[in-house]
Amino acid sequence: MSRTAILGAMAAPHVPVAFLTALKRGWKGRCPRCAEGALFGGFLKMRSHCPACGLVLEPYRADDAPAYFTILAVGHIIVPLVLILERYGNQPPLWFHALLWLPLSVLIALLLLPRIKGAVIALLWVHRMASPKPSTGGLDISP
Ligand SMILES: [Zn+2]
Repeated sequence: MSRTAILGAMAAPHVPVAFLTALKRGWKGRCPRCAEGALFGGFLKMRSHCPACGLVLEPYRADDAPAYFTILAVGHIIVPLVLILERYGNQPPLWFHALLWLPLSVLIALLLLPRIKGAVIALLWVHRMASPKPSTGGLDISP
């Protein structure tokens, strides 16, 4: 983080952000606090802090939640379509189902995963549900 960004982050007043606003910003891959900085440095690689406002993002780790919600969403999109095709599509052969639904499932999952991860990070930030720092390997016996 640059010195200017650190000073900007320190000088920025804490402005409460509405739940849905933060969720939308996260869905778009933007910082839930300022909506300017990008949440991700790569496809799913979360930045350590917001490059625009300096919000520290490291404690808001989504872990497996985005994958879970993505699988849940893809299943709820694909399964009804499979059933509709099977019912009204003159029962196409299994190879047709595999050729259609497998790539479509992967495509939808790849489209949804970063959006859902951003929304989960925003959700964690809105509720200030920060995770403790990951263990450095040593046993922490401090009270
Ligand atoms: Zn920001």
